[in-house]
Amino acid sequence: LPPFDPADPLGIDDLLEPEDLAVRDTVRAWAADRVLPHVAQWYERGELPVIRELARELGRIGALGMSLSGYGCAGASAVQYGLACLELEAADSGIRSLVSVQGSLAMYAIHRFGSEEQKREWLPRMAAGEVIGCFGLTEPDHGSDPASMRTHAKRDGSDWVLSGRKMWITNGSVAGVAVVWAQTDEGIRGFVVPTASSGFSAPEIKHKWSLRASVTSELVLDEVRLPADAVLPEVTGLRGPLGCLTHARYGIVWGAMGAARSCFEAAVEYATSREQFGRPIGGFQLTQAKLADMAVELHKGILLAHHLGRRMDAGRLRPEQVSFGKLNNVREAIDICRTARTILGANGISLEYPVMRHATNLESVLTYEGTVEMHQLVLGKALTGIDAFR
Ligand code: FAD
Repeated sequence: LPPFDPADPLGIDDLLEPEDLAVRDTVRAWAADRVLPHVAQWYERGELPVIRELARELGRIGALGMSLSGYGCAGASAVQYGLACLELEAADSGIRSLVSVQGSLAMYAIHRFGSEEQKREWLPRMAAGEVIGCFGLTEPDHGSDPASMRTHAKRDGSDWVLSGRKMWITNGSVAGVAVVWAQTDEGIRGFVVPTASSGFSAPEIKHKWSLRASVTSELVLDEVRLPADAVLPEVTGLRGPLGCLTHARYGIVWGAMGAARSCFEAAVEYATSREQFGRPIGGFQLTQAKLADMAVELHKGILLAHHLGRRMDAGRLRPEQVSFGKLNNVREAIDICRTARTILGANGISLEYPVMRHATNLESVLTYEGTVEMHQLVLGKALTGIDAFR
């Protein structure tokens, strides 16, 4: 029998191909070098000052629009994209959010629903990290219920004129292009909006106590005039944004386990070195019970992510299955981080250790890309056939 590996107790790595391991190693090494030494300071200051450099570097390692093909994208498998998300979020959920929004929301929308011209214009520069993208769906008064959005686009001759406000938009203030969803006479449509357009502004949202190493913004659209070809031609209705969200949520299923892994590792290290009552706290049964339960949920979650990844690679992943994964993995991840915090005692609240940062980040991850309750309702509807959303 192979020896027991505390880092991989279920032997999940046996499911990975050498190319998968290479992707994981590359992203892990990048995050260790470029994020981990600085992230606590960025977090404390509530800013991501080097976001443009990070985007270019992420482009160079192929992490932007990673599972898309053509137009300068890496064409990686869904499993490889998931492994990258896990490694990025093990560093910080804010960095994974940057990559998710760029690749799974903004680029994915253009790749899947855009015209050939839109793809050629934007995707290569976005894959290289030269242009940062954002994705505007949520509004101040419409979050879980985006169908009621008020942002609208009206025809004026062949132009479109876009007005409204979007809220809580990741990457907004640093974006060169925004994919904005708006009501039209034909239903909800997506628009590719260069952020230099007259009437567009993106003030940054401050005073966040979660995802502090991430740029979050309001988008203000004050009669932004766009040419006829700014609309994403291939989709009408909520199916558009929801299709993008399924892709991004899939990445979160993996990513959340990265934050959990980081906290679990910190807890094991602390429990085996910190002594109270004359012995390591990891020698007390209560601490071991916590560690055992954390390990069980961590590796069950990774196994679930892997299973969903294989289904996505086989073209068989349903949105309800992604809801299943996001619901379970984010909820369990936050639980693991909070338990790790207890093991670290007072040190658990310090930025010297990663656990409080991850735990507070996951409060956002629990809410964005569909709240816990929305995913419960998705599953509840799939299980009963009864729609309980309204
Ligand atoms: P609400 O929809 O008002 O919900 C409030 C509470 O009511 C929740 O618990 C919810 O589950 C519950 N609730 C609502 N309806 C029901 C119901 N029918 N039954 C039971 N409970 C219900 N959005 C974007 O478009 N782009 C982004 O890039 C983006 N980035 C974000 C980054 C951060 C840091 C954060 C915090 C959010 C981001 N969001 C983004 C917004 C996010 O997707 C929304 O916050 C989320 O969809 C929830 O919307 P809301 O905050 O308006 O909450």
